[in-house]
Amino acid sequence: MSLPVLVVGGGPAGLSASRALAAAGQSVVLVEKEDRLGGAPILSGYAKLVPSGEWAKDAIGGMVDQVEAHKLIAAQTGITVKGFSGKPGAFKAVLSNGKTIKASAAILTTGFTHFDSVNKPEWGFGTYPDVVTTTQIEQMLSSGAGIKCPSDGREPERVAILLCVGSRDRQIGRTWCSKICCTVSANIAMEIREALPKCNVYIYYMDIRTFGLYEDRYYWESQEKHKVKYIKARIAEVTSDGKRLIVKGEDTLVKRPITIPFDMVVHAIGMDPNVDNMTLSAIFDVKLQEHGFIGRGLAYSAIAETSRPGVFVAGAATGPETIDDSIAQGQAAAMSAIALARQGTLETAK
Ligand SMILES: Cc1cc2nc3c(=O)[nH]c(=O)nc-3n(C[C@H](O)[C@H](O)[C@H](O)COP(=O)(O)OP(=O)(O)OC[C@H]3O[C@@H](n4cnc5c(N)ncnc54)[C@H](O)[C@@H]3O)c2cc1C
Ligand code: SF4
Repeated sequence: MSLPVLVVGGGPAGLSASRALAAAGQSVVLVEKEDRLGGAPILSGYAKLVPSGEWAKDAIGGMVDQVEAHKLIAAQTGITVKGFSGKPGAFKAVLSNGKTIKASAAILTTGFTHFDSVNKPEWGFGTYPDVVTTTQIEQMLSSGAGIKCPSDGREPERVAILLCVGSRDRQIGRTWCSKICCTVSANIAMEIREALPKCNVYIYYMDIRTFGLYEDRYYWESQEKHKVKYIKARIAEVTSDGKRLIVKGEDTLVKRPITIPFDMVVHAIGMDPNVDNMTLSAIFDVKLQEHGFIGRGLAYSAIAETSRPGVFVAGAATGPETIDDSIAQGQAAAMSAIALARQGTLETAK
């Protein structure tokens, strides 16, 4: 019997890796630093997911239930890894509770950190309570509280969603596209229109990246069926006239300045590297890529590999990823880890 595989991080990628390992008969130790499993969709209270339309608490909560019930998976929450040594097939991890575990391989599924909008102060977050993030809107929808202006609880009549907040922005050192926020924003816009049919929803964009099959279902449907309006613009600032928020910028199609009042402004926040990545890099001796995400091997020949043999990576730890890709990568990493764990068993049996 091979040693367990250590999975670090209990979001969609880590749940998927753990589930796949256990399904193949491989024991797993899953450590999660927060006090519950589920990753961003559960910890941040996402509402209905793109593209399945399922509630996060059902879809990802269902994965959590499966993992917690599986007898080959020992899930530990509120735990981090403090030390990691050894070689493929025979690693030793020291946990934050002082315990030491042996592992044949490790899979890092430590995900991302939401961009903090206070790093974009000219767009009003932190100054005006009715400037919120997509995460806050997800929480309003998933909690059943409804879409309300935080300042006074009124239902907004005009909402602006600003795309690419903390992504594709060289000024603040975040050049990457966060991949899913155009689609998530179009979905949120449709949900607001359904919940508040009298509310006008505008999406301010640089480019629209509702990639692949999402173009019809989110970009066109939001405009044609739900009457969401799209404005191609460069935003200068979000201010207030004392009654309403004012979005100022330039309409880049007609090349004219625009100043439009809103009740609520939503930042479509991007995906930053996990703030723990420097520490994880030092502990696991894995290299980070240029933006600070965990570096991975060649896309086709070294799936899920990091710079350290026996330590694999999957999901948004490697860069902005969707949930379905994170789940697929978790399974791929599980396959690589199993191959290593079984190789170790075969060699011991020789
Ligand atoms: C507002 C918003 C809405 C989104 N909606 C969708 C959607 O509808 N559909 C979609 O496909 N994608 C969506 N996404 C993207 C989605 O959040 C990611 O694809 C997904 O969370 C990635 O899963 P993951 O397991 O790789 O990482 P995470 O979900 O980030 O999970 C990582 C886990 O690792 C834990 N962890 C971190 N560091 C450590 C450590 N040092 N030790 C132990 N544990 C650690 C974390 O606590 C967390 O539980 C959305 C993103 C945003 C910002
Ligand atoms: S997915 Fe859309 S909103 Fe998100 S960073 Fe890319 S272009 Fe901007």
